[in-house]
Amino acid sequence: MKKILLIHTGGTIAMEENKATGGVNTKEIHPLEATIAELSDIAEITVKNYVNLPSPHITPSHMLELANFISVQTESDQYDGIVITHGTDTLEETAYVLDLVLQTSIPVIVTGAMRSSNEHGSDGPYNLISSVRVACEEQSLGKGVLVVFNDEIHAAKNVTKTHTSNIATFQSPQYGPIGIVTKRGVLFHHTPLKSSSFHVKKFSKNVILLKAYAGMDGSLIKAATNAADGVVIEALGQGNLPPATVPALQELIAKGVQVVLVSRCFNGIAQDIYSYEGGGKHLKELGAIFSNGLNGQKARLKLMIALENMSDPNQLQQLFLE
Ligand code: ASP
Repeated sequence: MKKILLIHTGGTIAMEENKATGGVNTKEIHPLEATIAELSDIAEITVKNYVNLPSPHITPSHMLELANFISVQTESDQYDGIVITHGTDTLEETAYVLDLVLQTSIPVIVTGAMRSSNEHGSDGPYNLISSVRVACEEQSLGKGVLVVFNDEIHAAKNVTKTHTSNIATFQSPQYGPIGIVTKRGVLFHHTPLKSSSFHVKKFSKNVILLKAYAGMDGSLIKAATNAADGVVIEALGQGNLPPATVPALQELIAKGVQVVLVSRCFNGIAQDIYSYEGGGKHLKELGAIFSNGLNGQKARLKLMIALENMSDPNQLQQLFLE
């Protein structure tokens, strides 16, 4: 029987609703205990109650510490797979950091729930069972970190939370899931390309995320000039910015702050196409780096990780093309 390490980090999957107030909060006894007992005919489960945090409390440092914890736990090859339960708000970010830094080839699955343990149609137990089934699958090996939710399997790089409350919240815009969980088995229909992995001991760089909008001026970008080592901007369309942002952007780049552009469109890739003032081609000439399809929050984490390893803009541009 496969040995699976189950790591709890908190989130709605670990919470219950107070029927009097309607508030949802953490519970002392983990509500998945009964489900874990039911899993005994699928896998041998070892449980670690790592932390119990709502995921808006999770920071990039927590993500790196979790990666280190997983590395230590898997050092002696005693597990065949890892399942992590996590709040859904920042789940995609933790999954992506783990994907970028973990060296293990055993399946690593991240899951959660949209409905807490005592709400009607609570999805936590089902998502946990699906995740353990995926973690036990030979085909899940070497696919990087996966997010299993609502019968779908998504690559950490592409998945994002798309709905505030629907249980089908996790989607991979443009690419779709890489597999599905059915009543009889687990079916993969795509294999993600393996991207580079990085050694990072701690995060020491401040990278901020800004979103462009019609009529944006340079004030937010200016504020970043002395505060940030890197700035990710969710630019307009193909990767363009309003012209009033350009002087501040030039100053930012001249100060050595790395600027990565993604698109605020959730499909497609930001590229240097338009040559008008503030157009992508112009921004590229000024030194902006274009990212190959990541969303803003993931490009930010990638830049944080990259800046721990390199500072040359050409090298960074190459990395963001991967
Ligand atoms: N706000 C919760 C959290 O991210 C939502 C969830 O778990 O689904 O912890």
